[in-house]
Amino acid sequence: MRMVLLGAPGVGKGTQATLLCKRHGWKHLATGDMLREGIAEGTLLGLKAKEAMSRGDLVEDDVILELIEKTLDGIKGAGYVLDGFPRTLAQARGLDEMLEKRAENLDRVVLLTADTEVVVERMVLRGRVDDTPETVRHRLEVYENSTRPLIGFYEPKGILRRVDGVGKIEEIHERIESALA
Ligand code: ADP
Repeated sequence: MRMVLLGAPGVGKGTQATLLCKRHGWKHLATGDMLREGIAEGTLLGLKAKEAMSRGDLVEDDVILELIEKTLDGIKGAGYVLDGFPRTLAQARGLDEMLEKRAENLDRVVLLTADTEVVVERMVLRGRVDDTPETVRHRLEVYENSTRPLIGFYEPKGILRRVDGVGKIEEIHERIESALA
């Protein structure tokens, strides 16, 4: 299984990706986690990501695509859940090219949905360093402008499934399982 979890910041992609990977032995590929790790370790990647992330802006597509390409090279053959990538049309097209080169394809894109109030509340509770009220508002705008168009990119391919992201964590997990079947 090669899948993407799509949805607004705070919708629960990370939580659900973790459950899916534990259950099936897939790799959890979370670009946000990789970038935060880079920042913590002071790597070049972290340096490139730090400012944009603290503003709630997206890190440059080229930086992200290079990171994903390296990561996919390192996990040849394994199933994976992409969490937080792709976030722009350029990233989605870049991913398609990478997969084509590998003669692989994407099996599913699961769109997790929730009302804005729900995701804002979750982010406030989570309290990560980039979860200040202004940054949260800005990240939601970035999602609307740059990431929501991916729905129109994946829908015609017939691999997109919408899943209600409101409810108990285990219930949502089972909904995703059904959407993968
Ligand atoms: P959330 O989805 O809750 O915002 P993430 O950990 O996925 O949390 O992302 C945190 C930040 O990391 C984003 O606001 C952005 O600055 C950066 N980031 C993560 N993934 C990407 C990506 N694919 N492209 C560009 N920037 C990214």
